[in-house]
Amino acid sequence: MGSGQVTSSVSSEFKGKHVTVAGLGVSGLPAAKVLHGLGAIVTAVNDGADERARAQAAELEALGITVRLGDGDTLPEGTELIVTAPGWKPDKPLFAVAERAGVPVWGDVELAWRLRGPDAAPWLAVTGTNGKTTTVQMLASILKAAGLRTAAVGNIGVSLLDAVLGEEQYDVLAVELSSYQLHWAPSLRAHSAAVLNLAPDHLDWHGSMEAYAADKGRIYEGNRVACVYNAADKATEDLVREADVEEGCRAVGFTLGTPAPSQLGVVEGILVDRAFVENRQKNAQELAEVADVNPPAPHNIANALAAAALARAYGVPAKAVRDGLRAFTPDAHRIAHVADVDGVAYVDDSKATNTHAAEASLAAYESIVWIAGGLAKGATFDELVTKSAPRLRGAVLIGADRALIREALARHAPEVPVVDLDRTDTGAMRAAVQEARRLAQAGDTVLLAPACASMDMFANYNKRGDAFADAVRELGSADG
Ligand code: ADP
Repeated sequence: MGSGQVTSSVSSEFKGKHVTVAGLGVSGLPAAKVLHGLGAIVTAVNDGADERARAQAAELEALGITVRLGDGDTLPEGTELIVTAPGWKPDKPLFAVAERAGVPVWGDVELAWRLRGPDAAPWLAVTGTNGKTTTVQMLASILKAAGLRTAAVGNIGVSLLDAVLGEEQYDVLAVELSSYQLHWAPSLRAHSAAVLNLAPDHLDWHGSMEAYAADKGRIYEGNRVACVYNAADKATEDLVREADVEEGCRAVGFTLGTPAPSQLGVVEGILVDRAFVENRQKNAQELAEVADVNPPAPHNIANALAAAALARAYGVPAKAVRDGLRAFTPDAHRIAHVADVDGVAYVDDSKATNTHAAEASLAAYESIVWIAGGLAKGATFDELVTKSAPRLRGAVLIGADRALIREALARHAPEVPVVDLDRTDTGAMRAAVQEARRLAQAGDTVLLAPACASMDMFANYNKRGDAFADAVRELGSADG
């Protein structure tokens, strides 16, 4: 990373300034280095002092940066600005001290936003409880198909600081933003932005659903061209209404149904745009076919429409939307078809780590043997089970909080056969897949959509999905 593009006014703003970087790790380390490079007097503080933190501290100390490990709540003397890791909770004592002292707190996104040069690429930003990564990748693919220099950045791929300060020149950026990052990014102003959906998640961090929604809603603040919302999720539309945007900025909805004027939607298997066309009362522009979306599950078509809306807001032609969607392949463990065994499809959606995601996933299939369970993170399962019950051939439950799902099934779908696997060892996935096979009939889908986090049994959701895929392949080869 170079600081070549930083304007002199911005770099001089940091010269000699006492900046505390709170939290080492993915964002803290590069932030500390960049600030040091700009002449700031940097102190990095971190709660823990494990091996990784010590290695990072050594790296920073070698540059002459002061590091305090195991002391994340004392504000270093003279601090004029805190740049925090996005994950640090707003109710941490350090921030109360900072507030009393009148010290501003920025996250990594705010820092990147402030450091971008005068001719910097505009940001097309995406947030939501689920579908962010997929949508941002679809958007980047569409922008590339239009011949634009772009990258998917933020929570994924290239880091924002790299994108803003690196050698690579971009025309426009496709930016994924989490609710934490938005919380700490008060001055961010996107060209256009989308909130895909809003369901309870991370409430322990934000404190309440209202606070979570308000942080998500910040993505619309100051938008210049379009605020893209989900017409099926009123909460996202409410956020648009509350946002303070630039004169002329439009609210644009996306829907899986026939679009009203100023919406993108679906008509007879075609994705159509009734927002960025001349005379939208009468006209619509065909963008792509539903079959161009991979996979063409309803929630993913919604993601494609949101990506298309942002791309169209930026002025991308219809053909590039189609070409970009065709060129897109989803990341692993997101509704990934693993194999067919005995006429049963096995699908890995290990990334469905909350109930809202699992509900979308279950809605994509007609007859399902559902593998679920793990760490519930405070969620309840009544709504998910009630909505999904008609599609369930059976359920196989794994993981620490499986009793919560079992009880919801007993309450709302007592006729659905349930296998409760009383084990949390990693080998349990093989047993789960075997049980699912017993329950499934030809034409069914065995779907891993856990609605829970994976850390009780696996290092992460990737490992959980891999264990599922391995177990499915074993079934196949045992047949062979
Ligand atoms: P994020 O980056 O927000 O976690 P991903 O694109 O990685 O989102 O998708 C995560 C999971 O969320 C997917 O595996 C799928 O189960 C679910 N999902 C994706 N898009 C949507 C959507 N629009 N609505 C509901 N659930 C979705």
